[in-house]
Amino acid sequence: MENTGSTYDLAVIGSGPAGQKGAIAAAKLGKRVAIVDRKEMVGGVCIHTGTIPSKTLREAILYLSGFRERSFYGRDYSVKDEIAVSDLAFRVQAVMAREVEVIRAQLKRNRVELVPGTARFLDPHTLEVQGVAGTTRVTADHVLIACGTRPAHSPSVPLDGKRVIDSDHLMTVERFPRELIVVGAGVIGLEYASMITALGNVMPRHLLDTRLNPSGELRDSAALRLEEATAGQLIQIQS
Ligand SMILES: Cc1cc2nc3c(=O)[nH]c(=O)nc-3n(C[C@H](O)[C@H](O)[C@H](O)COP(=O)(O)OP(=O)(O)OC[C@H]3O[C@@H](n4cnc5c(N)ncnc54)[C@H](O)[C@@H]3O)c2cc1C
Repeated sequence: MENTGSTYDLAVIGSGPAGQKGAIAAAKLGKRVAIVDRKEMVGGVCIHTGTIPSKTLREAILYLSGFRERSFYGRDYSVKDEIAVSDLAFRVQAVMAREVEVIRAQLKRNRVELVPGTARFLDPHTLEVQGVAGTTRVTADHVLIACGTRPAHSPSVPLDGKRVIDSDHLMTVERFPRELIVVGAGVIGLEYASMITALGNVMPRHLLDTRLNPSGELRDSAALRLEEATAGQLIQIQS
């Protein structure tokens, strides 16, 4: 069912850090502001699949694996023998839920209206928002597009959600892999490769990076830092 919706000075598409900051800055200037995002994505990639879950996962793995204490107690030391995905997901979910509440409260406090759903433009000042309860329209003098990013996919790496996944789906696997190839040795690839390695139950770990030239040398300074960071972690870098 379509409802005719409301008119604002500013409509923001996306409630990640960029959308939140834009919406709140306008609201503080006395503007009428709406922010549109899917109900389950309030807070953006940052809260649901990016910064917050990855850092929470890292801390949980470092704690449960006893990684930081190994230089003192030895390589075999761990706080918990078998670390299951559920041990980690529990902590990640709790942190995410708390962060979403903080963001909702912050938007409410600043009188930014949260419109749940997926937005699409009908014209430069009108958005159609498709939510679970139906469709509504949001009109605004200005629209801020803050839709963020998603993992790059390649036809040469087909995903199946089980053995071949992207970084958004690491927390949905039933168990962590014993062998792992990470395609993309940027910050996220390196971070997840290091975390899985810290679990200690994986065999070979590879990071694939296109910054290697044919003779196997890394080309830029960021890639050289990558080599330094992976030294001693049994992570092989390949092109
Ligand atoms: C694994 C991982 C780890 C990261 N770690 C860090 C880190 O440690 N430090 C750091 O600074 N950054 C980190 N980042 C990057 C950080 O998450 C992003 O830079 C940040 O989230 C970008 O914010 P944003 O507001 O631009 O968009 P996002 O957070 O991506 O939010 C965009 C929002 O727009 C919504 N949206 C998109 N299209 C529509 C539409 N049509 N209608 C309604 N809503 C829509 C989406 O649902 C989403 O909620 C990490 C990212 C990943 C993936």
